[in-house]
Amino acid sequence: MLAQMMDRPLLISTLIAHAAKWHGDREIVTKTVEGPIHRYTWAECEVRAKKFAQALQKLGIKHGDRIGTLAWNTYRHVEAYYGVAGYGAVTHTINPRLFPEQLEYVVNHADDQYLAIDLTFVDLVRDLLPKAPNVKGVIIFTDAEHMPEDLSGIRNPICYEDLIAAEDGDYEWPNFDDNSAAALCYTSGTTGNPKGAIYGHKSTIIHTLCEIAPDCMNLSARDVVLPVVPMFHVNAWGTPYATAAVGSKLVLPGRDLDGKSIYELLTAEKVTFTCAVPTIWMMLLAHMKENGGQLPDLERVTIGGSACPRAMMETFQNDYGVQVLHAWGMTEMSPLGTLNTPKAKHDDLSEVEKVDLQQSAGRPLYGVDMKIVDEEGNELPRDGKAAGELMVTGPWIISDYFNIPEKAPAHAEEGWFGTGDVCAIDEDGYIWITDRLKDVIKSGGEWISSIDLENIAVGHPQVAEAAAIGMPHPKWDERPLLVVVRTGDGQDLSKQDMLDYLEGKIAKWWTPDDVVFVEELPHTATGKLSKLQLRERFKDYVLPTAAA
Ligand code: AMP
Repeated sequence: MLAQMMDRPLLISTLIAHAAKWHGDREIVTKTVEGPIHRYTWAECEVRAKKFAQALQKLGIKHGDRIGTLAWNTYRHVEAYYGVAGYGAVTHTINPRLFPEQLEYVVNHADDQYLAIDLTFVDLVRDLLPKAPNVKGVIIFTDAEHMPEDLSGIRNPICYEDLIAAEDGDYEWPNFDDNSAAALCYTSGTTGNPKGAIYGHKSTIIHTLCEIAPDCMNLSARDVVLPVVPMFHVNAWGTPYATAAVGSKLVLPGRDLDGKSIYELLTAEKVTFTCAVPTIWMMLLAHMKENGGQLPDLERVTIGGSACPRAMMETFQNDYGVQVLHAWGMTEMSPLGTLNTPKAKHDDLSEVEKVDLQQSAGRPLYGVDMKIVDEEGNELPRDGKAAGELMVTGPWIISDYFNIPEKAPAHAEEGWFGTGDVCAIDEDGYIWITDRLKDVIKSGGEWISSIDLENIAVGHPQVAEAAAIGMPHPKWDERPLLVVVRTGDGQDLSKQDMLDYLEGKIAKWWTPDDVVFVEELPHTATGKLSKLQLRERFKDYVLPTAAA
């Protein structure tokens, strides 16, 4: 027997249609690439997204064709998200921080028909186009006045504002199968070529509904949301969709992600909710430490993408009264997997114990199931001690990578995606990430968590950033090397100071065999520490304990 419920496809266009109709006067505010602040509403956003869809039709774009975007978080990028997917084509958000050869690979692999780009990326695209012969033209997200004078080497340049000005916006969002592809995002590819995750309409809507829930980001029409996480990587953690679903005000930072610019937007626009990777918050907190300031309107900050250091949590919560929501996810998971909010049983914990609990990356959202397995694939107990590879399954997790012959996770069992992250899961379902499988330091048959070492090291006031890597050791197989970037006023920090600081905070056998100081650490295109490059940099280095 079948249900007698209306068969309505879960399409991304329903989000913008809802926001425009029921929250039509709520603002979208952008720090534009051209400079000034731009303001308009969700209702205006929908009209312009429809105009873009009409323009795509005229350009001959077909259902499922890919449109590459190289753009910051701006209102025009939001219009592209909705115009392209609403029309039935696919937004391929491209990370401009990829290496040139990776950019070339993703544009060709995705078979992008057009590129829609911010002014910032004109030179980058000029270099790319000779190697991307299938791209038919380049839509530049600006108006006629700001079009670059030098458009040499830009194939078929189109001014975005002129393109949509030619349309009337009289357009009905089409209906189609909600299993259709809507967006494409490539992983940052620390090894080999980047791999593409294709998000669908239905998967995105389900992800959105779970994202706005109280034990997740807890978003409502009353919120003012500033996603600092880029729209060019994993859809800015779904915030352009979630804000439309609830009708919150959306604040977009454009290209200026430094501490001062973000602080100014947070305060001027009275932002209540924001999200980004720890690197961004390091810059904001450093700015506030130096220049003073408060965050009176900000209620919640979601921090994920890499482990959030305890010191950062304490600063946000104790100094500025902002609740930290620690989250874990991946490109392959749209991206949300877990988020850390307390359960009722945690009400009685002391303040310190509450922060202890927040060190976990959280517990599974409804929609994501997970388990940990040993090297043979046997499930391990959820006792908070046993650590194994985290496997996940759910409707917004990829079943396959886009257009590559190998199955999604080479080592996964049917129906599960192997994340490559190592963690323990406790009795309450909180996950405790130790490491990436390939970054864990294997000393004498035991594992040392590079993440834990790094998080403790950055608690030192003179440490700006730290990375721990396993170095070859004749007796122990590997031993930890700690690589440290000192803060501007911490230049006299010595190896012994660092070791003294760690003492008592970690098991003795976790103590790094050496500490070296560098000016900066390498990062990937998504701002994570690049252990691969760091290992390469230290490949000829020999630990003092290994030299004998
Ligand atoms: P990406 O696909 O670029 O979003 O990267 C996903 C990876 O980032 C995960 O597989 C983890 O290794 C790492 N990651 C994300 N969130 C966290 C977190 N809260 N703690 C530790 N690692 C994290």
